[in-house]
Amino acid sequence: MNDIKALLQESARWHSHLCPRQVLGVRMGLAGLAALGLDPNRGESKRLLLISETDGCFVDGLIAVSGCTVGHRTLRVEDYGKPAATFVDVQVGRCLRVAPHGEVRARAAAFMPEQTDSYQAQLLAYQSMPVEDMFVFQEVRLLQPIEQIISLPGLRVLCDGCGEEIMNAREVLRAGQVLCQACAGAGYYCAAGEMD
Ligand SMILES: [Zn+2]
Ligand SMILES: [Zn+2]
Repeated sequence: MNDIKALLQESARWHSHLCPRQVLGVRMGLAGLAALGLDPNRGESKRLLLISETDGCFVDGLIAVSGCTVGHRTLRVEDYGKPAATFVDVQVGRCLRVAPHGEVRARAAAFMPEQTDSYQAQLLAYQSMPVEDMFVFQEVRLLQPIEQIISLPGLRVLCDGCGEEIMNAREVLRAGQVLCQACAGAGYYCAAGEMD
């Protein structure tokens, strides 16, 4: 699992390029798993829920290390536009948020003084810089219970508004009605022409 070259190859395969953000994701994935004492090679990725705070190249680095995916319901994106992630050991309820150190770019440049190009410096430095120079770790508590986030598979109800099926207990109960997020007014879309 600690063969960083192989993990970077895995991550880059989906992109046809390797960039600093993927390296950051791979290193953060390794650091987060190590801090929780989990090893996905021993099938322990099922114990892990990863909450990434951005999408894009960074999260592919995390996936390459952890094996967590949206399809396996072990990866969620809370899009804050930040290359940070919370590693949740669902078995023991421990939540560890890992974020890049505020000075990680400057430290990468200092780590690779012969590199004048900052992109190249980051690409190389992130592969071998000491973990403690790259990341800050913070024990956190999730505001929603883990059981609620994961929910139970197989739960299904029909929305009283639109009639569509809602899985995983994502419905909203309001005035005796069972509503989907969209009908409850918390949707990310509205009908075309509705928005003025
Ligand atoms: Zn990229
Ligand atoms: Zn609905």
